Amino acid sequence: MDIMEKLEILSASAKYDASCASSGSFRNTPKGGIGNGKACGICHSWADDGRCISLLKVLFTNFCIYDCAYCINRRSNDIKRVAFTSREIADLTIGFYKRNYIEGLFLSSGIIKNPDHTMELLSEALRILRCEYRFGGYIHVKAIPGASKELIDKAGKLADRISVNIELPSKESLTRLTDKKHTDIFEPMKQITDGVITSTEERKISRFAPRFAPAGQSTQLIVGATPETDLTIVKLSEAMYHKFNLRRVYYSAFIPVNNDSRLPVLREPPLLREHRLYQADFLMRQYYFNADEILSPQHPMLDISLDPKANWALNHFHLFPVEVNTADHEMLLRVPGIGPRSAKRIILARRTHYLGFDNLRQLGVVMKRAKYFITCKGVRMPAVTEKLQTVYRSLAESHEPGPYQMKLFSTEPL
Ligand code: SF4
Repeated sequence: MDIMEKLEILSASAKYDASCASSGSFRNTPKGGIGNGKACGICHSWADDGRCISLLKVLFTNFCIYDCAYCINRRSNDIKRVAFTSREIADLTIGFYKRNYIEGLFLSSGIIKNPDHTMELLSEALRILRCEYRFGGYIHVKAIPGASKELIDKAGKLADRISVNIELPSKESLTRLTDKKHTDIFEPMKQITDGVITSTEERKISRFAPRFAPAGQSTQLIVGATPETDLTIVKLSEAMYHKFNLRRVYYSAFIPVNNDSRLPVLREPPLLREHRLYQADFLMRQYYFNADEILSPQHPMLDISLDPKANWALNHFHLFPVEVNTADHEMLLRVPGIGPRSAKRIILARRTHYLGFDNLRQLGVVMKRAKYFITCKGVRMPAVTEKLQTVYRSLAESHEPGPYQMKLFSTEPL
C-alpha cells in the first residue's frame, strides 16, 4: 500500500488522543544533526478544537489485539487495517520536518501481536530517527501498557516525552470496558517517574549521563464514557500529579464511535464538561487549589454554567471583598479575574504605590469579574452589587446548544 494512504488512515486514527502537547522539552541539536526541540518552539500553535497541530501525530498501526469498548481501532471493528514499518515512520518524520510541515513526532499505536513486540517497533523508529538521522526535534511516544521495563526504558532514553494513557477514571471501568489491567498502566507510569528523577540526578553529576524523557510524562482520561463523577476525576488527577509528577492530564470528551451496550448513549460529546475539568485542573496546577476545595461529596459535579474558580468564590463569599493592596498572593489568586500573571504584577506594583481600580485594569485584571470581590484602599468599586444572587447571574455563562468545542486554554484569567 502507498505510504500516503497509510498516513491518511493512521493519522485519522490518532485524532482521538488529546495528549500531545510538548511543553518542557530542551533537547539540543546533536553535532551535525538536524532539528531542535527548544529552538522550534514546538506546540505553540493549537487548532481551535484544542489539538496540537505542529507534530506529526500518527499511529504506528491500527491493528489491535484488544477490544476496548470506546475505541475505533478495537479488534472487533471492521475497519481497514494498516501498519507502518519503523523505517517508514522515521522517513516520514524526517521528510515532513525538512519540508517544514512539522516540528516533531507524536507516535502512538494499537497493539500488534503483543505489547513487547509493539513497543520494540516504536523504539526502533525512534532509534532510526535519533541515531541514524540524528534527529534532534521533539518526540512524544506512547508507552504500550504491558510492555517490559527494558523496552520502556529504551524508548524513554530516545523520546522527549513518554506517557501512558490512563483512559478511564477507575479500576472498575477499566476492567468493564477494556482488556487492560490497572497495573499495566500504573507500573509504567511509576517507572517513567523514577526514570526521570534518576536521569535528572545523574545529569547533575555528569552532563554525559543519558537523558530520560526530559519533557516528563502526561496522560489522557476519557470523560463521560463511564459513571465516575467530576470529583473522582479531579481527585485522581491530583493524586497522579503528586505521585507521578505528571506534566499534564488531558481530558477528552467521550465521542461515541462504536455501538456497544456498555457505553452510554449521549446526544452530544460532553465538551463543556471537558472544558470545566481543564479549568479545575488549572486551579490545581497554577492556583494552589486542592481537589477537595473545588468539589465535595455533596457537590460532586462541576457547575456547567460557572467556571470552578468563580464557583468557589461564590461559595466563600464571606471571605470577600479582599483588599488588593494588602492581600497575600494565594488570596489574590482566588479572586475571579486575577490570574497568576496579574497577581504577580499587583504584588510588584504595590511595593511602590497604592493601587486603584484603574491601575488594576492596566495590570491585566479582568475587572468585569474581579469588581465583586475586591476593594482598593478599603473602598468597593462604585455601583457594584454585594448581592450574591446578582453576582451569580453576572458571572454565570450562557451556552449555545452544542455540538461545539471549547477552547483548550482560556484567554482570560479565571
Ligand atoms: S489498546 Fe488502544 S488501540 Fe487497542 S483497542 Fe484499546 S484503546 Fe484502542
